[in-house]
Amino acid sequence: MVTFTNLTRAPEIGANSYLIQKGESSVMLDAGMHPRRDGWDATPLLDQIPQDLDAIILSHAHHDHIGALPLVSQAHPHAKVFMTSATAALAEPLLHNSVNVMTRQRRELGRMDYPLYTHRTVDDSAVTWELAPLNRPFRADSSSELEFVFHDAGHVLGSVLTEIRAEERRALYTGDLNLQRQSLMLPCQTPTGPFDTLIMETTRGAQPAIPGQDRAYFEEELLTAIRTTFERGGAVLMPVFAMGKTQEVITLLHHARLAGKIPSAPVYIGGLGRAMTEVYDRQRTLAPRQHANFRLIPEAQPETFDPRRLPSLRLRAGHIYLLSAGMMTPKTTSHTIARLFFPREHDSILFVGYTEPSSPAGLLRKAGQGGTVDWGEQGGSLPVRCEVRHFDLTAHATREDLLRWVTEDIKPSRVLLVHGDPDAQSWFASALAASRPGMEIVQPPPGLPIPLFRKLS
Ligand SMILES: [Zn+2]
Ligand SMILES: [Zn+2]
Repeated sequence: MVTFTNLTRAPEIGANSYLIQKGESSVMLDAGMHPRRDGWDATPLLDQIPQDLDAIILSHAHHDHIGALPLVSQAHPHAKVFMTSATAALAEPLLHNSVNVMTRQRRELGRMDYPLYTHRTVDDSAVTWELAPLNRPFRADSSSELEFVFHDAGHVLGSVLTEIRAEERRALYTGDLNLQRQSLMLPCQTPTGPFDTLIMETTRGAQPAIPGQDRAYFEEELLTAIRTTFERGGAVLMPVFAMGKTQEVITLLHHARLAGKIPSAPVYIGGLGRAMTEVYDRQRTLAPRQHANFRLIPEAQPETFDPRRLPSLRLRAGHIYLLSAGMMTPKTTSHTIARLFFPREHDSILFVGYTEPSSPAGLLRKAGQGGTVDWGEQGGSLPVRCEVRHFDLTAHATREDLLRWVTEDIKPSRVLLVHGDPDAQSWFASALAASRPGMEIVQPPPGLPIPLFRKLS
C-alpha cells in the first residue's frame, strides 16, 4: 500500500510537508517553514520522517515549502533533493537569506534558539540537490517503487505540480498553483486526467470570486491608483515578497509605462528582490513564462534601494518603492519606510498580495486612511493619513477555477485537502461533495499515515 502522511502540525497554511511511502521507499513532498510561527514550532513534524528517507521533492521556492529543507537534509544527508532549475536558483539565496534573518532575530530579539540552521547547513544541503526537468519521469534511485513527473504550476518561476506514480496508479500534488495568467507567469499546464488521487492546495477556499473583479480588473485599478497618486504629487509604497510578486509587479509597471498608462517613474526594489529578479532573467528560457525574451533588469531598469538611506530619505513625487516584506514584518524595509508615508496625505501604500490579518500589513489595511495603527517600538500608535488600498493580484487559483479544474480536468476519485485554513478546507470539502457525490474527500490529520489511493473495490 502507498501511504500519505501530513507532516504539518495543523490544518492551515503552515509548514507544508508531506510524506509518501511504499515498501522501502519514502519520499517527502516539500519541507516548509510556517510563516507565522517562530522557532521549532514553525517546523514540520521532523521526528516523523523515517531515518532512511530517499528523497525530498520541492514544488517551488517559497518559504512555506522550502524553509525547513536544510534541517531535513542535515538529519537525512543521503536523501536526494529534486526540483526544477529555477527553483534551485531561487532557493539557494532565499535559504541563505533566512539564515541572515534568523541571526538578526537572535541578536535583536534575544532568540537564543536562532538560527535554526547556518550557512554551512544550507551549503551542505545544496550539494544533494538534483535538477529535474518538466514532463520527464524520475525516481530517487532505479529500484524505487515511486516515480514522479513535474508539470508547470504557473504560480512563481519554477513552480510545479508533482505527479506521483505507484502501483500503476497516479496521484497529483498541486503545491501552489494558478489557473489564470499573471503579469509574467502563464497558467498551469494541466496534465491529462483522470488521476486517482489529488493532493490539493486550498488557499483561497474562504474567498468567493466577485464577478467582474478578475486579474485584468485589479491590474487596471492598481494602475489608476498609481496614476492618481502621481497626479497629486505623491509617492507609492508597495510592500511585496522579494520573489514572485516583485517580478510580477515590475513586469506590469513596465508594460503599463510602454502603453502610456502610467508616466515613466523610478521603481526601487530591495537587494534580495534584485537578486531574485536576476534569477528570473537568467532562467527565463528554462521555465514557462509570458514575454520569454523580456529581461526585467535591463529593460524595466528597477533601481536598487539601499536601506542605509532610510534615516535621511526624503520621499519624492512619482517614485515607486517596491519593497519587502509583503507582510511588513518589523525591521524589514517596507515596515521602516512606511512611517515616512503615514503622515503624507498625497502618498499611497498599495497592497497587491495576501496580508495575514494579525501582521503589520494586515493591521495597516484594517486601520486604513484616517485610522491609527500600532507600529511597534518607539512609534507606538501612529495616525495613517496616506491612502491605503488593496488589489488582489493573486498567484493562487480562485476557488471557483479550482473546483472546475478538479471536476472537469483532474477527475480524481480521492481528494486530500491541504495548504488552507480550516474554513477554506471546509468550503472545498462541501463544494466537491456537492459536485461529485462519489468522490472521497479527506482532510489528512497531522502525523497519521493514511492510504494515498482509494481502496480498490
Ligand atoms: Zn507559494
Ligand atoms: Zn504555499
